Amino acid sequence: MNAATTITTDVVIIGAGLSGLTAARRLTERGISVIVVEAKTRVGGRVHRKELSPGKFLDIGGRFVGPGQDDILRIAAEVGVETAPFFHDGRCVWNFDGQRWETDGDGPLRDSASREQYDAARAELERLAFTLPTGSPWAAPNAATLDRTAFSTWLDEHLADTAARWALLFDLNSFFFVPAHRLSLLHVLSILASTGGWEILDQSDDRRIVGGSVEIAHRLAAALPGRVHTGQPVRTVEWTTDSVTVRTDELSITARRCIVAMNPSDARSISFEPALPWARGLFHRQHQVQGGVMGILIYQRPFWRDAGYSGQVTTDLPAGTYVRDGSLPDGSLGALNSFMTPLSEGPWGAPIGLLDSPAARREAITRVVEMAFGPDARTAIDYVEQDWLNEPFTAGVQAALPPGLMTEVGAAAVEPLGSIHWSSTELGDRWTGWMNGAIASAERVAIEVASTLNI
Ligand SMILES: Cc1cc2nc3c(=O)[nH]c(=O)nc-3n(C[C@H](O)[C@H](O)[C@H](O)COP(=O)(O)OP(=O)(O)OC[C@H]3O[C@@H](n4cnc5c(N)ncnc54)[C@H](O)[C@@H]3O)c2cc1C
Repeated sequence: MNAATTITTDVVIIGAGLSGLTAARRLTERGISVIVVEAKTRVGGRVHRKELSPGKFLDIGGRFVGPGQDDILRIAAEVGVETAPFFHDGRCVWNFDGQRWETDGDGPLRDSASREQYDAARAELERLAFTLPTGSPWAAPNAATLDRTAFSTWLDEHLADTAARWALLFDLNSFFFVPAHRLSLLHVLSILASTGGWEILDQSDDRRIVGGSVEIAHRLAAALPGRVHTGQPVRTVEWTTDSVTVRTDELSITARRCIVAMNPSDARSISFEPALPWARGLFHRQHQVQGGVMGILIYQRPFWRDAGYSGQVTTDLPAGTYVRDGSLPDGSLGALNSFMTPLSEGPWGAPIGLLDSPAARREAITRVVEMAFGPDARTAIDYVEQDWLNEPFTAGVQAALPPGLMTEVGAAAVEPLGSIHWSSTELGDRWTGWMNGAIASAERVAIEVASTLNI
């Protein structure tokens, strides 16, 4: 076996997602030397794109941005990447409990009693969310009670109306692809609080990044020549209070500080020596995975727009919880994205096993599109997908914390441990879980690390 190449630097950053790369940029700006090590052979982590033909890309990971997401919009502008409006014009299609209907806007509820319950439940969730301390929801006086409550229990108590319950789950589905019984109420509230509330959250799919969101990661990495090492899964982190050695199969990097920039669930594959304290270790070991498969039907053109449809389809059918128009911005190719959640069961998501092959998934999405827009659904020229559940070195879309975990881990989620610091969207206090959260977390950790280095 060849001896590992040794490198010495001020800060070693593990993970070249948006969070790790932004932290690297901010530290470099302060004159601090950094090395970024990334397990995958590409940068970007949970932002990724598929190239359909030269220069024509489809996002298959993080893609929507919106008002209030100032951190991601700022970094996009810094690296010279533009945003474009996401296509929303036209009617939306809904299908719930065997019934199909259309609306002109986003709201699915037709019955005024359902609407009343839904509005009241949203208001109550927002009221509770705004009582949490920013950045440390586990420290709220009633945190333990809220955390021990499964979100499904809260829904049972507040939303007897099944249509209203479905509509509320739909509002949250874009970031919680797990059944509500596996989700802590405190975590739901902390995420809602981190966005600034429903009014702004409802606009979170307003725009997209031109060229795909991963273009930001590419440009951040390009501005760090020779500093980003891809294809280097980190195996061990040997740490003390003032130094750290990070080892991959080929590299041994010694630094004064280390930033672990990934979903805590992803960090469980890394061996820490000495072992992590109990609470931090629990955070890594606990299964927080959520997500599924992003499947995209590709058409010669966005045919549904001709008939006045926006491309938005929301149903309680397998493969059809969340279909959106993902066509190229110039409309030169039509694309319908569906996010399938084989992890969840029952009406919310696909029954386990039903969608176990790409062919089964393609057929399931096609049926949903056929129900929504008619027989042209079957004229797709291609189908592409990204399986985020089986993506190496990525545990899923974003952490969905089960009841009890947030308060058990507490401040250990964010507090530095000796020479180790933590970053990722899960730890960003503005838009936790979104691309914005990754940047917010990186901005915080860069200041934290620089201050420990007295720079
Ligand atoms: C399908 C999908 C849809 C989404 N939709 C949206 C959206 O519309 N809008 C939005 O704002 N956000 C969305 N998100 C979320 C957004 O993409 C993430 O919040 C953000 O990209 C997370 O960045 P990060 O840097 O925190 O983590 P990551 O991107 O996960 O980066 C962590 C990096 O660490 C690496 N790593 C893991 N283990 C090791 C190891 N042992 N050694 C070295 N490296 C390692 C990983 O490979 C990865 O590159 C979506 C995500 C997905 C997957």
